[in-house]
Amino acid sequence: MACSVAAVVVAAGRGLRAGGDIPKQYRVIGGEPVIRPSLRLYAEHAEIAAVQPVIHPDDKGLFAEAAAGLQVLPPVVGGATRQASVYAGLEALVDRQPGIVLVHDAARPFASPALVSRAIAATAATGATVPALPVTDTTKRVDGSGIVIETLDRALLRVVQTPQAFSFAALLGAHRLAVAKGCDAFTDDAALAEWAGLRVTTFEGEPTNVKLTVAEDFARAAVERAAALPDVRAGTGFDVHAFGDGDHVTLGGICIPHDRGLIGHSDADVALHALTDAILGALADGDIGAYFPPTDPQWRGAPSDRFLAFAAERLRARGGQIAHLDLTIICEAPRIGTHRDAMRARIAQIAGIAIDRVAVKATTSEKLGFTGRREGIAAMATATIRLPWALP
Ligand code: MG
Repeated sequence: MACSVAAVVVAAGRGLRAGGDIPKQYRVIGGEPVIRPSLRLYAEHAEIAAVQPVIHPDDKGLFAEAAAGLQVLPPVVGGATRQASVYAGLEALVDRQPGIVLVHDAARPFASPALVSRAIAATAATGATVPALPVTDTTKRVDGSGIVIETLDRALLRVVQTPQAFSFAALLGAHRLAVAKGCDAFTDDAALAEWAGLRVTTFEGEPTNVKLTVAEDFARAAVERAAALPDVRAGTGFDVHAFGDGDHVTLGGICIPHDRGLIGHSDADVALHALTDAILGALADGDIGAYFPPTDPQWRGAPSDRFLAFAAERLRARGGQIAHLDLTIICEAPRIGTHRDAMRARIAQIAGIAIDRVAVKATTSEKLGFTGRREGIAAMATATIRLPWALP
């Protein structure tokens, strides 16, 4: 009989070994917080019915930002140990009565949908299971001062990862037993399940499903992430808006005082419109008018940052990232130069990338053509993006 499957994503730790000024699960890697790919993996997996995040009480704002737009349950607050945090997540799921629960560490952002499917299939068969990899290095057991006591038979050793997956009732029972007996030092759920007498089996893990712990892990993961996105594409965008009455223009997401305004259905931010189309072009995913038709009254006067954020999110949903945005604004006036860096900062913020990946340039058209006659502003943009290899 098919039963429902829930996931607990554990993100309540402080992650201090990774350095930085925010907990590691909220640091940005590949253009998004570390926790977001894990939340998305489970939220979008066809076999998962509910995703229960567990967070630290100080991280509510960081979490809300990191999980924006994803279909996950409201987070519950974890405890002082990983074990206590998992237990809080399990108790929050009791009313849903899932048949199977997967427990995943937010610090493992690279787990694949196939791994999740393997975890569910293995648990349906055995009731308690962990992803495992063979040990490839020769492994020694040492004493407290580092002196080798013996060389272990690595054929009998495995390193284990998350998601660890269990019959929900069995894992909840094991956690409740541990609480009742005051045992609170289990560092993974399999160890707790073994202690409670459950038979834990293994299934094939993924070498890429690494845990980010220290600062070097983040540097290596950034390199590996780029290597995992080999499909580099460029897209172009072009837009024009005419001048009309007004006392300012909105360009690149910022307000610039001017003796004319720009006419348009939205806020007429010609620069953000060109950038939006450049990203959609690189994705071969339609254009701005297809998603935000000028005939739709809900976009009247709309701030154009939502258009650019929408395109960036469609890219992230495909598992990709923005490598670079390059914008050229063509007009005789207003002067752009003094606003360039504010514009770069705002575009970087909307697109969710670093400012050194955003270029803003301006030129006149030597008083030729409609821009030369000061009838309007034109903008052209190029977006370079990276995607995983598309499946055939
Ligand atoms: Mg436009």
